[in-house]
Amino acid sequence: MSSPESERLSPGLYIVATPIGNLSDLSPRAADILARADVIAVEDSRVTAKLLGHIGVKRPMLPYHDHNADRVRPGLIERMAREAVALVSDAGTPLISDPGFKLVRDARAAGRAVTTLPGPCAAIAALTLAGLPTDRFLFLGVLPAKAKARAEAIAEVAGVRATLILYESGPRLGATLAALAEVLGEREAAVAREVSKKFEETVTGILANLAARYAEAGPKGEIVIVVGPPGIEAGPSLADADDLLAEALARLPAAKAAAEVAKATGLQKRDLYARALALKA
Ligand code: SAM
Repeated sequence: MSSPESERLSPGLYIVATPIGNLSDLSPRAADILARADVIAVEDSRVTAKLLGHIGVKRPMLPYHDHNADRVRPGLIERMAREAVALVSDAGTPLISDPGFKLVRDARAAGRAVTTLPGPCAAIAALTLAGLPTDRFLFLGVLPAKAKARAEAIAEVAGVRATLILYESGPRLGATLAALAEVLGEREAAVAREVSKKFEETVTGILANLAARYAEAGPKGEIVIVVGPPGIEAGPSLADADDLLAEALARLPAAKAAAEVAKATGLQKRDLYARALALKA
């Protein structure tokens, strides 16, 4: 009887998350799919060869990166009709600040099967380390390098009530933290560096303090910045809206009162409605 591991994979696209530092973080299922894929689309074959060496397999690899993706994609879509095509990036989850979304889009449009193998992602790993709210978060990828464009990109999200996650490099860390502090003010933040590697560290603090800490020389390695959401100084809280709600409830039913106060304060209508019901009770 053949084990599932020795059977041919069904044709289609397999999106395979790979470790962001510690090769032992490759899941057994990811290793199995890589071992049985007919071809692996890779960013850099030297990086993926090391991973394949770690699990003791050799598979054909095809470079798929920003510079050749448009040319290579139609052939890969064609192959997915008959073959199992795995997609990996150098580290972490493909498509997250990495190539792949157009491959998935075109694979779906062509009716190919698309399977994902979830796994490491630096953004999510850093979010779990930061000790900041996780109920709403916004992933910003890498901010523009030029100061003006960077400040504009930060200003665009300054009012968003969510934890922000950014990818950054050591040399630019100090400047980026300073720009974040300048536009966002006194927010809690975390710098997660070399996650799952030997020199892993997470430093937390107010943005301006972190900017001062990293102003001189940026640290080595790969970095994620996590910034907490705006506090009450950036806008009214639900408690701040109680007086307005109470006044509106004297005139209106709860749903209408919540809608009126939501319009006036920018707070969420559903939160205000729950608060209105509590006040009435
Ligand atoms: N697709 C990847 C993922 O799922 O995380 C991200 C690829 S992006 C091109 C690379 C960036 O991710 C790095 O510049 C760094 O900001 C972040 N990163 C990757 N590995 C990391 C690690 N071990 N620790 C901290 N940040 C990491």
